[in-house]
Amino acid sequence: MEYFLTEQQKTIKNLARKIAEEKILPVRAELDEKEEFPWDIMKVLAHTDMFRVFIPEEYGGLGGGCLDLCLVVEELSRACSGVAVSYAAVALGTIPLLMYGTEEQKRKYLPDIASGERLAAFALTESTAGSDAGAIKTTAERVSEGYVLNGTKQFITNGGEAEIYTVIALTDKARGARGASAILVEKGTPGFSFGRKEKKLGIRASATRELVFEDCLVPKENVIGKEGMGFIVTMKLFDNSRPGIGAQAVGVAQGALEAAVDYARERVQFGHPIISLQAVQHMLADMAIQVEAARALVYAAARTVDSGAKNISEESAMAKVFASDIAMKVTTDAMQIFGGVGYMRDYPIEKMFRDAKITQIYEGTNQVLRNVIAFELRKRKARTE
Ligand SMILES: Cc1cc2nc3c(=O)[nH]c(=O)nc-3n(C[C@H](O)[C@H](O)[C@H](O)COP(=O)(O)OP(=O)(O)OC[C@H]3O[C@@H](n4cnc5c(N)ncnc54)[C@H](O)[C@@H]3O)c2cc1C
Repeated sequence: MEYFLTEQQKTIKNLARKIAEEKILPVRAELDEKEEFPWDIMKVLAHTDMFRVFIPEEYGGLGGGCLDLCLVVEELSRACSGVAVSYAAVALGTIPLLMYGTEEQKRKYLPDIASGERLAAFALTESTAGSDAGAIKTTAERVSEGYVLNGTKQFITNGGEAEIYTVIALTDKARGARGASAILVEKGTPGFSFGRKEKKLGIRASATRELVFEDCLVPKENVIGKEGMGFIVTMKLFDNSRPGIGAQAVGVAQGALEAAVDYARERVQFGHPIISLQAVQHMLADMAIQVEAARALVYAAARTVDSGAKNISEESAMAKVFASDIAMKVTTDAMQIFGGVGYMRDYPIEKMFRDAKITQIYEGTNQVLRNVIAFELRKRKARTE
């Protein structure tokens, strides 16, 4: 399929694929097994300017947008989704700054993120506030010197490894969700520590940790946007970032499809390679159709983000839901084609199957995102009545 990428986008995509094949493929099983954060690969991504992709040129970036980011995430995920999400979570922590940061905040943080010197993360979820994000309890009390944070964030990607955290906390408890603000907190700030590191089913190279705030004082200049805008920042962030989860899903599905084709060519049963069986051929054909359809939707949603269009919640949610459901289906079918060995750790399929699942869960579960899409449909119906 021709996606009419710019020369820069083609260069970025090819470079990401080269890094994935040369640096990630050889170590992905080990990273998964040891549940080890991929620092060596993060350094390679930094040296090859991959963190510059989504940062504007005036802050040391390459000036790319959502599609550029998706191309990198897809290629990294084709080799290892754990590495891909560690990279993508840096963008997640940074996009609020790009959208709503002051010039001073951008000059302070973006050049270091662009160079890969400092990783970023985004922290919303708490033990009692997942899909119901408005139920967060972490507070950021205004005092004369700034804000004092108290509370615990759960399941934070890049937790402990990142240096810069965008944290959603209540600056006005009485106003509930309308009293939340997005606040930058740097690693090393007194009162900011890390809790348990989660042991996960998949994306095991990525770090998922608790963030603990105990009377953690941050300067008042660290608020992104205005006080009370925390959930607007969050919703706009997710509209921008969900195609990236779609890209992660497309990448892992593409990796599984390619592995299944290779295996079906080699595996001989009843005297012939199993790829000569029509039952297997049709499975592979369906997998290829599904991956390409998901890619087309993800790229279209990413281009909608890059167009600057205002209400993109529906397109973004559709891309994430469709691509992640496809990733789960394609990795499941790929395992079926591998038969018994697909279930074993000697082959990459069981890792891809485990890695695919999370794309249906984070940045809005697929059920919650179907609510978002249905909400937009209902609004549209009301307009035509
Ligand atoms: C590996 C991993 C990494 C993560 N990284 C981050 C991160 O970097 N930053 C961050 O802030 N968070 C992160 N999260 C949190 C993630 O976004 C949440 O887990 C997710 O939003 C779902 O919330 P929950 O787990 O509390 O599930 P719940 O909200 O408890 O949902 C449980 C079930 O109920 C369903 N449900 C709930 N409400 C509705 C509804 N209204 N309609 C229909 N169904 C509903 C859900 O779809 C789901 O099936 C991460 C999670 C994981 C597992």
